[in-house]
Amino acid sequence: MTSHDNRSIELSLAQLAALDRVMSIAEFAPDGTLLRANQNYLVLLGYSLEDIRGRHHSFFCPRTLVESPAYELFWPRLREGSGSSGIQERVRSDGSSCWLEATYTPVFDGNGEVVQVLKLATDISARLEQERVQQERLRMLSLVADASDTAVMISDSQRRIAYTNAGFGRMFGWRGDEIKGQSPMALLVPDRDEQTIAEYYAEMYAAGAMQREEIVTGKHGQRYWAKVVSNPIFDSAGQLQHTVTLFTDITQAKMHEALQHRVLESMAREQPLTEVLELICLEVERIAPEITASILKVDEEGQLHSLAAPSLPSDYSRQLNGVRIGPMVGSCGTAAWRNESVLVDDIASDPLWAGYQDLARPLGFRSCWSTPIRNSQGEAIGTFAFYFRQPRNVASALFHQRLVDACAHLCSLALERENSRQRIRQLAYYDALTGLPNRSLLQAKADQAIATAARNNEQLAVLFIDLDRFKQVNDSLGHPAGDELLRNVAAKMRRELRGSDIAGRLSGDEFVVILPQCDGDHAADAVERIQTLLCQPMTIANTNLSISASVGVAMYPSDGCDVETLLHRADMAMYQAKSSGRGCFSFFSSEMNKLAQERLALENALREALQKGQLRLHYQPQIEMSTGRLYGVEALARWTHPQFGDVSPARFIPLAEECGLVAELGRWALREACRQLSEWRARGLVVPAVAVNLSPTSFHNLDLPRMIADTLRSHHLAPADLTLELTENILLDTNPSTMKTIEEVHAQGIRLSMDDFGTGYSSLSYLRRLPVSELKLDRSFVADLEHDEAARALSNAILGIGKSLHLTVVAEGIETDSQSVWLQEQGYPVAQGYLFSPPLAPDALAQWLEERVVIEEEAGVVG
Ligand code: C2E
Ligand code: CA
Ligand code: CA
Repeated sequence: MTSHDNRSIELSLAQLAALDRVMSIAEFAPDGTLLRANQNYLVLLGYSLEDIRGRHHSFFCPRTLVESPAYELFWPRLREGSGSSGIQERVRSDGSSCWLEATYTPVFDGNGEVVQVLKLATDISARLEQERVQQERLRMLSLVADASDTAVMISDSQRRIAYTNAGFGRMFGWRGDEIKGQSPMALLVPDRDEQTIAEYYAEMYAAGAMQREEIVTGKHGQRYWAKVVSNPIFDSAGQLQHTVTLFTDITQAKMHEALQHRVLESMAREQPLTEVLELICLEVERIAPEITASILKVDEEGQLHSLAAPSLPSDYSRQLNGVRIGPMVGSCGTAAWRNESVLVDDIASDPLWAGYQDLARPLGFRSCWSTPIRNSQGEAIGTFAFYFRQPRNVASALFHQRLVDACAHLCSLALERENSRQRIRQLAYYDALTGLPNRSLLQAKADQAIATAARNNEQLAVLFIDLDRFKQVNDSLGHPAGDELLRNVAAKMRRELRGSDIAGRLSGDEFVVILPQCDGDHAADAVERIQTLLCQPMTIANTNLSISASVGVAMYPSDGCDVETLLHRADMAMYQAKSSGRGCFSFFSSEMNKLAQERLALENALREALQKGQLRLHYQPQIEMSTGRLYGVEALARWTHPQFGDVSPARFIPLAEECGLVAELGRWALREACRQLSEWRARGLVVPAVAVNLSPTSFHNLDLPRMIADTLRSHHLAPADLTLELTENILLDTNPSTMKTIEEVHAQGIRLSMDDFGTGYSSLSYLRRLPVSELKLDRSFVADLEHDEAARALSNAILGIGKSLHLTVVAEGIETDSQSVWLQEQGYPVAQGYLFSPPLAPDALAQWLEERVVIEEEAGVVG
């Protein structure tokens, strides 16, 4: 801070006196010893003259200065005559330091020798301190400007960029010199129109400051949600000089705020899940218009379901429904599969989209970025996807990432909330063990079903099912095995029931099934089906188990009109069933119960009768009207049960049909009728043919033609010896074998006869499709012949149809002479009925035949 020069100063005394007042002055000997000092000097350093006279100059200097090489030269140079000036630190008497701006001037004698050194000093400590403070402030300011993350921009009076700080460079990517002189608006919000810009400035100047939240774009297209604070600075004349603008990146906070606030609010208002999620999508699309957002759910089976995609065509979303996630299933299916984000930049070429690009490309989507939505266990329960029509801007990646972060969290919140709601519903209304409705849901569903039944005037059955000896299973195999058994039973029940049926678990091993549109018979069928199903062995805890259930049935409306009554009565019926042993069922009402029990007993008895050959055939003669000769006999099944007595075929044939015995019964009847015919013939009796009744089910069997041929052959009978009677409901039969079997039987030369003709279909066209050669006029027409003209007209018409199709028409059920006369007059060729003979046991028929031969012989008709 000091410098030497060779200028010497000539000072007048007056000047010196003036100086003496304002400056600190000291005189040193050429060796540096202090000779004199003025008052200012003494005050400045805090000494009295006595204290310091004779002290060396170095006494006042800080140690560091004295020890410096510069100081070593200081006095020698002064002695040589070089003056010195500079700013120097001095130590006061109290040890504190002060700063002096000092000039050292050598004073020469006449010989040019230095005799004295004059020091003139000014205390500049205060000034220096001020400067130091100032500099520190500047340093701080530049720190503020450059080290802070706030981007600072100063524009000039022409609204051109004059200065940007380092933070601005970091945020937006421009160097200061790159953009100096440009319009800030054109740079940062390029799509803003003139009008809006003008309004912006006007508002800012008027208010003197302005704060906004804007989405601003940087050099590479990166975007920020920024808080923009602008302060215009005017001079004293009110002219705009500069505008200082600060930008703070508030993207994260803002996204959270914009999304979270609205989304949470809509959740709090209990809006449906899809509405909440659509809100998220729309908000995303508002914040980043280049994005089309879509949210999919992944269900437990790993299938995708569209939840929200308000800007995608609904057709597109529909096609994604049910798509299974996997390693190559577009962006979303793959993201869910991998449980990580999947970014496909080129849908057209990426193998992940190979199977799906035809969906997305027509909509113009080029890329798709999908992120899994995770539940609290970290499993992917959905996906959140951004579709882009333009190539994705890499600089926007961070912005998009922040959007994804904000949304994925909200989506998972919304989805988890929905899931837990469903769980709560499930817990409230479903039995946790079996997944079946619990008592309260069952009750509600039953109420509905009963209301429907009442409206439609229908019956409804309530089944109370209680597993037999469930406690034993629990006790011997343990509770987990018991639970498994119950789950198993529930699964079996669910499989067996129709969609409209309702099944539920009341408690323990008690189940309830409600069957709408169901009468007593159907209820009994359902019970038997369920009981059969439960009987099938299952493996529980490595043990083969076959269980049974006791079932009680109550019927609406006969047993009760409300759920409680019906349940209670079904329960009572179940107790009754239990008392008769395992695997039984009981109806609540005694009458219905009796019917159902009888039916069950009868069914078992019939099965046994068939097995043990306890059925028999009776034969009813058919008479040729014109000659009185035997045309043939119809075989009719008879069953006499040791307990039940004679059971009418009108009862046991339908029963056989329902319990699947009728085909077997048909085979038996065929064999038995043929055997009987050949036996009669062997005894010399003339029986031209035997007619056997067959149910449609018999024709399902493609083996029937061969079986008939074998039977005929083994009894030495010709095909013409056999007639098969079918009913019109064979036309309702949809089994593909039926027609084929009929054709084959016909082709063998066996006659087919259409039974009960006139009672079924009005369409006669089927007569051309079915190869029948005989019609049997239903006996209801015959019964009315005498009194009802319409019946006569009908019988006449049917005969006409038969004749025109070259079919033999047999009138059955003839009981009186007058019926016989009418039919004979109309021209009926064949008659059958009690008038001639009831169905007869084989021996009785033989006897009947022999007696007729005698009568005929007596009357002379034979021959
Ligand atoms: P269907 O084939 O129409 O048999 C004629 C029914 O009329 C027989 O009743 C017969 O006993 C009765 N009948 C005969 N003459 C008269 C009469 O003059 N007056 C009245 N009122 N009835 C008469 P059934 O034997 O009780 O048989 C009832 C139905 O059971 C049969 O009607 C047939 O559809 C079916 N059926 C009988 N046996 C068999 C069989 O072996 N297989 C099949 N699939 N069905 C059979
Ligand atoms: Ca018949
Ligand atoms: Ca008939």
